[in-house]
Amino acid sequence: MAAHLLIVEDEEKLARFIELELKHEGYEVTKAYDGREGLRLASDNSFDLILLDIMLPGLNGLEVLRRLSQTNPTPTILLTARDAVMDKVSGLDAGAVDYITKPFAIEELLARVRVALKLHGRVGAANLGGADAASAEEGVYTWGSLRLDEKKREVKFDGQSIALTNREFLMLETLLQNKDIVLSRDTLLEKVCGYDYVGETNIVDVYVRYLRTKIDDAFGVKMIQTVRGVGYVIKSEE
Ligand code: CA
Repeated sequence: MAAHLLIVEDEEKLARFIELELKHEGYEVTKAYDGREGLRLASDNSFDLILLDIMLPGLNGLEVLRRLSQTNPTPTILLTARDAVMDKVSGLDAGAVDYITKPFAIEELLARVRVALKLHGRVGAANLGGADAASAEEGVYTWGSLRLDEKKREVKFDGQSIALTNREFLMLETLLQNKDIVLSRDTLLEKVCGYDYVGETNIVDVYVRYLRTKIDDAFGVKMIQTVRGVGYVIKSEE
């Protein structure tokens, strides 16, 4: 039984990015882009956790929180702008369980979501249940003798473990999830470094090089293909 989260955030790109990450973690996700819609959804449904932006069109996040606390109180994490101290205080007063300051690293948000669900949630995190045989292969991606298991966070080639850093793992996982789709450096960068990463996209090339050293060179294969001027792809085997 996956926890069901509501995101209320008017920056659609950010909302979609958070949605993808949460779904990837196994949560169910519903989105609203303004305060009134968020309030309506939260009042009519039973969410396990709400991620609520404060600066919203229509009805601001604090007002949503206040109205909700009277009708259908739901554990809520506020998304606040930097230095909005009063918002944080008012938000916690109004019943928010936590807040996170923008811009944030997605790993931090995911960690706070896990904690909030554990402390306040109705069903707990999706991935904490015991996996049965049918779902044992869920989250496992393969390419030839390579096997990536996202739950165990491990990569093996012919049963032999390959030690990857967090970003190398994310990069490989993203490419394996999108087999036969050429991913641009921007897409990979967003996935690996977060949507608000500011820096050189050639960092993607660096991680691809690390992966090639650890996998292609070590096991004599050619897994990650370069598509000149576009990006990278892992192709299904012929
Ligand atoms: Ca906003």
